[in-house]
Amino acid sequence: MKLIDLSLGVAPGMVVWPGNPAVSLEPVLSLARGDAANVSRLTLGTHTGTHVDAPRHFLPGGTDAASLSLEAMVGECEVWDLTGVDSLIEPRHLAGRSLPRRLLFKTRNSELWRRGEPFRRDFVSVGEAAARRLAEGGVALVGVDYLSVEAFGSREHATHRQLLAAGVVILEGLNLAEVAPGRYRLVCLPLPLVGADGAPARAVLWEEG
Ligand SMILES: [Zn+2]
Repeated sequence: MKLIDLSLGVAPGMVVWPGNPAVSLEPVLSLARGDAANVSRLTLGTHTGTHVDAPRHFLPGGTDAASLSLEAMVGECEVWDLTGVDSLIEPRHLAGRSLPRRLLFKTRNSELWRRGEPFRRDFVSVGEAAARRLAEGGVALVGVDYLSVEAFGSREHATHRQLLAAGVVILEGLNLAEVAPGRYRLVCLPLPLVGADGAPARAVLWEEG
């Protein structure tokens, strides 16, 4: 079984959302200094790299990252080719196909990871109307290949709110550059961070056999 890793490496200097904490990894115990082991202190935001959003990210009183449904994040999954979308994913991009339970959008964003670009504001995002369509269509998980499902500079955060209020798991920061559109199995396991508004995750696909 060939696993396809969709996860961004977590490292100091990696691209993070403007205003979010930078990643640091510092030695606390060190073999070179005579300690019994190497042990490090990791500092990172809850929305670093490949990660999931919990309802409380935007909904006051919403549930936390540790309470997200594992069933929503494991199972059959489709990767759709939306590389032709210029900026906003709209309902017309979802039309004519039945919505799967888990859906990942491959867009031109994945090329940004491949090229090692710094943060870009002009990434492809999911519009409010498309988010409503996904929520009403019974999608349990939606995945995107940049650090937010929502356009940069959104004030109302309607896309996040639509999805989170409907219980849809939002998986962000995927790298789909090496993934062909099609049907797969997905395993996405975020850290069970109690009380947190999001959590870094490892996400892998494999082809259905
Ligand atoms: Zn988000």
